[in-house]
Amino acid sequence: MIRIESYLAGQWQAGNGEADTLVDPATLEPIAECSTAGLDLGAAVRHAREVGGPALRAMTLPERAAALKALSAAIHEQREELIELSIQNGGGTRGDAKFDLDGATGTLMAYASMGKRLPARSFLTDGDGDQLGRTPRFWGEHVWVPRAGVAVHLNAFNFPGWGMAEKMACAILAGVPVIEKPAPQTALIAERIARLIVASGALPEGAFQFLAGQPGDLLDHLGPQDMVAFTGSAKTGQLVRSHPNLLANGVRVRVEADSVNAHVLADDAENDSAAYDQFLQNIVTDLTQKAGQKCTAVRRILVPEGRIEEVVEDLKGQVERLKVGNGREKDTRIAALTDQRQLEAALAGIEELKAHAEVVTGGERVGDTGAFLAPTLLVAKDGEADVLHSTEVFGPVSTIVPYDGSADSAVSLVNRGGGGLVCALYSNDVKWTEAVTLGVAPWHGRVWIGSDRLQGQGLPPSLVLPMCVHGGPGRAGGGEELGGLRGLQFYMQRTSIQGFQGLVQKRFGAPAVEEA
Ligand code: NAP
Repeated sequence: MIRIESYLAGQWQAGNGEADTLVDPATLEPIAECSTAGLDLGAAVRHAREVGGPALRAMTLPERAAALKALSAAIHEQREELIELSIQNGGGTRGDAKFDLDGATGTLMAYASMGKRLPARSFLTDGDGDQLGRTPRFWGEHVWVPRAGVAVHLNAFNFPGWGMAEKMACAILAGVPVIEKPAPQTALIAERIARLIVASGALPEGAFQFLAGQPGDLLDHLGPQDMVAFTGSAKTGQLVRSHPNLLANGVRVRVEADSVNAHVLADDAENDSAAYDQFLQNIVTDLTQKAGQKCTAVRRILVPEGRIEEVVEDLKGQVERLKVGNGREKDTRIAALTDQRQLEAALAGIEELKAHAEVVTGGERVGDTGAFLAPTLLVAKDGEADVLHSTEVFGPVSTIVPYDGSADSAVSLVNRGGGGLVCALYSNDVKWTEAVTLGVAPWHGRVWIGSDRLQGQGLPPSLVLPMCVHGGPGRAGGGEELGGLRGLQFYMQRTSIQGFQGLVQKRFGAPAVEEA
């Protein structure tokens, strides 16, 4: 069996002792194992702080951007091999594999192009400077400087490529070394990408380390200049957030957790409208892509009371045609969940929902060899029941929830999710759209508005774009990542520099001022 290795302090090394086993989700046969037992994680943290950090901080922002571009190319060059491995380890279709891998290379490239236009300095200036005294002689500027620590990235199993790349793109461009920890279930594909990163030689030694398996005592070694960016379930997010050493040392922590995302159909979006088509298409995409294992996938579908039957019929018609099966087969549209544990958790989640909702299609395992789940739609019997608004079933599962069509009722039900990553609306009524957008915005990281005017132009709401923020308040973890250059701020310290204008403005102000 393959034993996955970690790359720490400049060496590939395997842990000893008890290992996590990775399976092929289509057969549930073991394919690899990983362990971090016995690895010196304190040395890895020191290596990042003492070797990787200084080397990255000595590079200018455009130089770091060039490194990201080289990483993107190195990964993209092995795309075919990575797709195969991703299907074997992640269980998805070829399309699912490409979604993760192209998301990774695309995000690295996006940050490479943002970074190449930045000043040839190691830090960023924040806004305009200010006169602080009686005359401009006493002047102030704000700068963002790279923090002098290491960024530990705890990644979820569902995006082993993209999840790792989006975090490291921001950290590396900011000038901060990373330790990437994939979830064990998909550590095989993450390890292959890590090997390509290391072999590319694009990054200085110590800027990138990789820990395949459980976190061990990693978080115990972190201090005040370090950062932890976590992506995963709300439950684990809580554990990380309340880790005693992180609290005691004021380690900066960001949590990207799960979310019970809602899509809302307005009454005016009639069934012959383009907005209604977008609504159906986006729901089918979310039930299909990665077998519904996306943090941004729709979990609640709000539909005006009088239109439930029509929506159920239209969705069932599309969903029941989708072939569930091995991702290697060309006509498969919905592949396996990542492992037996995920399948059991999804089935248990459906049982919980069934207390207040009726299954109209799916609801069961498909076959008895792999972790296959039929695409599942439920209709709420009681739209107010808490369980509908708090249960994320991480699979191809969504619940239709009736509402009275008013903006107030939509806002109140959507916000019962307690904070989400994305909320999608479908309407051509500007007033309704504006009221719902402003009502749900405080509870969401992103609001996506579908309408006839967007026909053929919009990318789906579940797609995370590097230029827009990703994250959400409350239950979604309260984090915010990406968002163009905003994504660098987590890895940097904003410092106010005050003193003689000739020095402060020239050395730390925006370069345009310097040139004038
Ligand atoms: P998870 O079980 O919470 O694990 C996430 C990561 O945390 C894994 O690498 C896990 O590794 C690590 N971890 C677990 N316990 C830890 C601890 N005590 N200290 C440090 N690290 C720890 O989540 P998952 O099952 O991989 O991912 C699925 C969930 O992620 C879904 O709920 C989904 O909605 C959410 N998700 C959210 C986003 C987002 O952007 N908001 C994106 C993708 C996924 P070990 O298992 O080795 O401990």
